[in-house]
Order: sequence, then structure tokens, then C-alpha cells
Amino acid sequence: MSTANPAVISRPVTRIVRGVPASDGAGVKLNRVIGTSIVPDIDPFLMLDEFRSDQAGDYIAGFPDHPHRGFETVTYMLAGRMRHQDNHGHSGLMVPGSVQWMTAGRGIVHSEMPEQEDGLMWGFQLWVNLPAQDKMNAPRYQEFPPESIPVVRPASGAEVKLIAGELAGATGPVQGIATRPLYWDISLAPDTTYSPLVPDSHQAFLYFFQGDAMVGPNDGHHAEQGQMAVLGSGNTIKIRSGNKGARLLLIAGQPLREPVARYGPFVMNTQDEIHQAFQDYREGRF
Ligand code: MN
Repeated sequence: MSTANPAVISRPVTRIVRGVPASDGAGVKLNRVIGTSIVPDIDPFLMLDEFRSDQAGDYIAGFPDHPHRGFETVTYMLAGRMRHQDNHGHSGLMVPGSVQWMTAGRGIVHSEMPEQEDGLMWGFQLWVNLPAQDKMNAPRYQEFPPESIPVVRPASGAEVKLIAGELAGATGPVQGIATRPLYWDISLAPDTTYSPLVPDSHQAFLYFFQGDAMVGPNDGHHAEQGQMAVLGSGNTIKIRSGNKGARLLLIAGQPLREPVARYGPFVMNTQDEIHQAFQDYREGRF
């Protein structure tokens, strides 16, 4: 068999899922897409939230001090400003278009609070699992302003902000992540077909936050704002936007295929490790 020209296999859509309204932190309203009873996870992704409101009451309470251990949190802001601060003296301001990829590792305690009293707050938080061997590593931050995120035009009518992964000779600024993720913010002009290549080693999904599109071989499934298209195996994804265009996240990563023990802000491999996390947190070892 020749490997010089591997077949292009368009990933089928395995399901279209609408997020569910949820509340987290001190009462922030959000749309939870992954991490629900409908979609508990898409290995290695444990959670995806979209927060989007111009009503201060929906976000003003923010996410006061809380711990994390054993995974990564990725915050991508579209509008509004969020102040981040942790118990190791690290702090930063997330502005529109910025990304923070935080590898919690063995543990941090942090707060994520709105730095505004009114106006639109809009963005995403994704949780990415860590392999067992990395769960107790030292915490690490990768934080980038919008001007550090390459914008690539891989096809007519398609524009991609490359947060993680490579495309058309460009490389996203987030590097050295165990699950080798792609995190792309894709804008499609009306009636545009774009078929990005995504390695078959990765699990992948699309989350639409503006407009709509037909997804999959033969334009088989419709997905619109607020919906996720979960994809089966293959090495490309066919996306054809509707007559108002579309904007979506393409997120993909290598699955870990390890046992997951999760409780609130801790994601480990066994219940014993969860109990240890609680004990370490209570006794101030984060
Ligand atoms: Mn957090």
C-alpha cells in the first residue's frame, strides 16, 4: 500500500448537540456544551462553556477563589475584560481576543472576575485533560494578547484565528500541550465551503457561535449558533456556511484513553487521587 497519497476521508457528524443553560462560579450564567449529562466529555475535553451576556447581573459575581488540579483551563475572550489572579502571585487581564491557556497541574487557587460593571461579556472556557504522568506537574500559564494570534486565510471566504495548532505555514502561540490540540476560531463568509484537515489521531468537534452551516459529507447535518457538531473519524471536515455566514470554534485533540475521576474542580484518574486533592486543598498545599 502506498502512503504517499493517503485518502481524504471526510469526518461524519455523530451528533448535533445544543448546550444547556447553566450557572457556575458565584452565579455566572452560561451555555454548557460539554460537561453535561448529554455530553459528559469528548476525550480529552472535559468541559466547554460559552458565556455571553450584556446583562451585568448574569456575570458580575464572577468566579471568586476556587482550586483546580489535574487538567488545563483555556479562556478565550471575545468581548469584555476579565481579571485573573492566583495564589502564587500570578495575575493578568484578559481583554477581547486574548487567550489564557492555564495548565493547573498539581494545583492552583485562582479567581476570574469581570473588570467591568456593564456591557457585553462574551467568551469561552474549555477544560482539557492532562495525561496521568503530567497531572502533578508545576502549574504553567500561556497568555497571549490578540496581536499574538496569527490570522490565516486558508481558502476563499475563510479566515482562521490560530490559537493552537498549525495551518498554512502559521503556528498558534500555544505550545507544548500534551494532547497536541487544535484551537481555531473560524469565520466563514456567506455560502463558503471550507474543509480543514484535522489529523485522524484527534477527536474533534465544532461549536457554532454565529450563523449556521451544513457539516459533514454530503452536507448531511445542519448546525447553528449555540450548537456543537461532534465528529467521527476521518482527516478532513466539510463545512459549508449558510447565507449569513458562520463563526465557529474548531477544537481537536489526541484522546488520552485513561480513566477519569472528576469531582468539581479536580480531575484525576482514581477516587483516591480525588480524596488526596481535597485533603491537599484543605491543608493549604495548593
Ligand atoms: Mn477557574
